[in-house]
Amino acid sequence: MSWTDGQAGRHRTSRHARRDEPQMIDAHADVASRNNEDLDDRAMLKMTDVTKAYRIGGQTVRALDSISLTLAGGEFVSVVGPSGAGKSTLLHLLGALDTPDSGSIRFQDREIGDLNDDQQSEFRRHSVGFVFQFFNLLPTMTAWENVAVPKLLDGARMANVKSRALDLLALVGLGDRAEHRPSELSGGQMQRVAVARALMMDPPLILADEPTGNLDTKTGAAIMALLTDVAHEEDRSVVMVTHNLEAASSTDRVITLQDGRLGSDARAGEPA
Ligand code: ADP
Repeated sequence: MSWTDGQAGRHRTSRHARRDEPQMIDAHADVASRNNEDLDDRAMLKMTDVTKAYRIGGQTVRALDSISLTLAGGEFVSVVGPSGAGKSTLLHLLGALDTPDSGSIRFQDREIGDLNDDQQSEFRRHSVGFVFQFFNLLPTMTAWENVAVPKLLDGARMANVKSRALDLLALVGLGDRAEHRPSELSGGQMQRVAVARALMMDPPLILADEPTGNLDTKTGAAIMALLTDVAHEEDRSVVMVTHNLEAASSTDRVITLQDGRLGSDARAGEPA
């Protein structure tokens, strides 16, 4: 099955069997009906009282101020808010690209702050897939080679990872573009390659920074459908930072940041 044929939100074939879960369910209704206790129970990532400040000149800017939130597997979460609200800082902390000044970030029962540098880069390589606004593909590599990059950085040999890279490209609907270089692909196709690359290590968490920011509305909607499938089909957590409120409204949960604080946290079908 390819994920490009409108499967978003209709089927879920979880890689982790869940209690009491019917196989054919409406994912949005499912996510909306979970209560917080259940969310805690299924927590993949839990932030508690996280604060991060930057000092510029004599001034201190609180980029994140006492943020507590829990992310579950199978959830597509968007983070919105005005420029400077702390969205990128939040994404960086979730991806262990930066560390909080105080508070705790637990990922599958590991405290990220307690990891040493090597463990943090291992965490980034194996547990997190990143998708960026400008795709960040390597121009001299073909689509499948770009998809394979995380495995190559992890020490695998090109020949041993080709078939997985090709499978992932087929999954995102680009099976026939494997040998194309980024300059021969459209923006939407490049972002599909980037999503396939983010999946290469089979990470439980995908972090997307404005993934539709450089795409037209229709192509952006297709990438949103793809990311929805990525979250629902494989029980991953997908966290997307965006300015695009329409895109955000199609996700399972919308978190609003304002001046580094949690404004609202609303699930699809529930009032903010
Ligand atoms: P957003 O992504 O919502 O636009 P950011 O997380 O980038 O917000 O920034 C939050 C606040 O922290 C802003 O006031 C920004 O200027 C400040 N900030 C972010 N990163 C740095 C940094 N590396 N050095 C100094 N200040 C920063």
